[in-house]
Amino acid sequence: MGNDLWVATQEALRRCVAEQTFQTWFKPISFLAKNDSTITLKVPSQFFYEWVKSHYGELVEETISGIAGLPLKVDYSIVLEEQKETYPRSLFESPQKQVQNKPKQDFSPNLNDQYIFSNFVEGPSNQFAKAAGQAVVEAQDNSLYNPLVVYGGVGLGKTHLVQAIGNALLDLHPEKRVMYVTSEKFTLDYINAIKENRTAQFSKFYRSVDLLIVDDIQFFQKKIRTQEEFFHTFNELYMSGRRIILSTDRPPAELGLHSRLTSRFNAGLLVDIQEPDYETRVAILRQKADESGSDIPYEVLEFLAVNIDTNVRDLQGALIRLLAYASLVKSDITPNLARRVLAEVMHQQVSTVVNVDSIVEAVAENFGIKKVEIMGKSRRQEIALARQIAMFMAKQLTRNSLKSIGLSFGGRDHSTVIHAVKTIGEKMNRDELFNAEVKTLIRRLSEPVFDQNN
Ligand code: ADP
Ligand code: MG
Repeated sequence: MGNDLWVATQEALRRCVAEQTFQTWFKPISFLAKNDSTITLKVPSQFFYEWVKSHYGELVEETISGIAGLPLKVDYSIVLEEQKETYPRSLFESPQKQVQNKPKQDFSPNLNDQYIFSNFVEGPSNQFAKAAGQAVVEAQDNSLYNPLVVYGGVGLGKTHLVQAIGNALLDLHPEKRVMYVTSEKFTLDYINAIKENRTAQFSKFYRSVDLLIVDDIQFFQKKIRTQEEFFHTFNELYMSGRRIILSTDRPPAELGLHSRLTSRFNAGLLVDIQEPDYETRVAILRQKADESGSDIPYEVLEFLAVNIDTNVRDLQGALIRLLAYASLVKSDITPNLARRVLAEVMHQQVSTVVNVDSIVEAVAENFGIKKVEIMGKSRRQEIALARQIAMFMAKQLTRNSLKSIGLSFGGRDHSTVIHAVKTIGEKMNRDELFNAEVKTLIRRLSEPVFDQNN
C-alpha cells in the first residue's frame, strides 16, 4: 500500500518539477515503511536528505498527503547503497564516432553521435539555449532564429548542443544535408583550396548544405580572407533560406569580426550557456556515471559537484580520472578515494581562486586585526608583521608579479614586497612556531574544503 502511495506521489511530483530535478532528486527515493501518521522514505545519503528536505520537503509532504487524503508526516531514512564492482565503459570510448544508419550522402555531416539532446542535462544555466536548439529542429520556417548563435565559456557544452541540433535534424529529416565544421577546419579547407586552385569547389561544397554548423567562430578573428569567404558562404546560405548555427566563446559583439558579419548575427537569435549550478552539476555527474555503467555512491558525486565548479569538461575529467583509478587499483569508489585522486585537480582549481584579498582576509582574521590596517600605513609591529606575512603568502600562492602585489597592498613599491618575502622566509627558518603558523595559514587557503552545507 505504502509503496503504491509513494509511486503515485512520484508520478505527481514528476508533473510539478523539471524532468531533470525529478530524475536527480525524486527518482532515487524509495518507499521504506508506513503507519497511520507517518511514511518513511529511503534516501541514498545525508546530503541528499538535507537537500530534498530543505528544497522539496514541503512539496513532498503536501503531495503525499493530498494523494493519501489525510495529513501524513514524511520521515527519511538514509540507506547507503552497496558498492558494486564495475568498470567504466563509455566514458573511455573516443567521442569521435560518426553517425551511422543515416542515408548515404556525398559527404559526412561530421557529427559525433554521442552529442544528442537526450544526454544534454538541462539546468538554469543552459535551459534557454537548449530550448532554442530544439525550436530550431522543429521549426518549419527556416527564417525563424536564423542564425542561431550560441556563446559561452570553454567546456560548458556549446559543441555538444550545436551537434545535438544537427543530429536531431538528421533524425527528423534524413535527407537534409547537415554539415558540422569547426572554424579552424573551415579555415584550413579554404587555405588548401587556394593552394590547390580549388576555391570554386570549396564554395560549391559549403554552399550546398541545408544546415551549416560552424563551431568556435572566435578563431575567425584577424583571419581576414577566411572571414571574407565565410561571409559569402553565410550570405548565400542565408539568402537561399538555409540554416546556420554558430558557436563562440564570447558575445559576438566582442569578437572583433567585420561589422557586416556581426550585424547579420543580430537578425537571428543569440543564446548563452553559463556555468552550471550545483544541482545541475550533480545531475550531469549522475548522467555521466550512468552512461559509464558505473555505480557511484551519491556522496562521491556530491563531493565532486561541490568541489569542481568550473565547467562540465572539468567535472567529466575528474570523474573519468576517479573511475580509471578505482578500476586500476580495484578499489571501491568512496569519498575518501575521490578526495585522494582529485587532490591534484582540485589543488589547481583552488590555487586559481586564491587572490590577494582572500589572503589579507585570512591573515587579518588569524591575527585579530582589521583588513584595512593591513592595507594601511600603520607601522605598529604586529600589523607590520601581519602585512609582511600576507605579502609573503601572496608571492607563494598567486602568480602575481612583485610589482602587482605591491600595488594591491595600498600602492607599495615592489622592493617592499621583496623585503617582506625575505624577512618572513628568514623568520620561518629561525622560528619553528612561527614557521608552523604561516604554513597552517597557507594550507588553509590552498586546500579545498568539503563543506557539507554548501
Ligand atoms: P564547449 O564546446 O562549450 O567547450 P563541450 O560541448 O565540448 O563544451 O562540452 C564539454 C563536455 O561536457 C562534453 O563531453 C559534453 O558532452 C559535456 N557536457 C557539457 N554540457 C553538458 C550537459 N548539459 N549535459 C551533459 N553533458 C554536458
Ligand atoms: Mg567546443
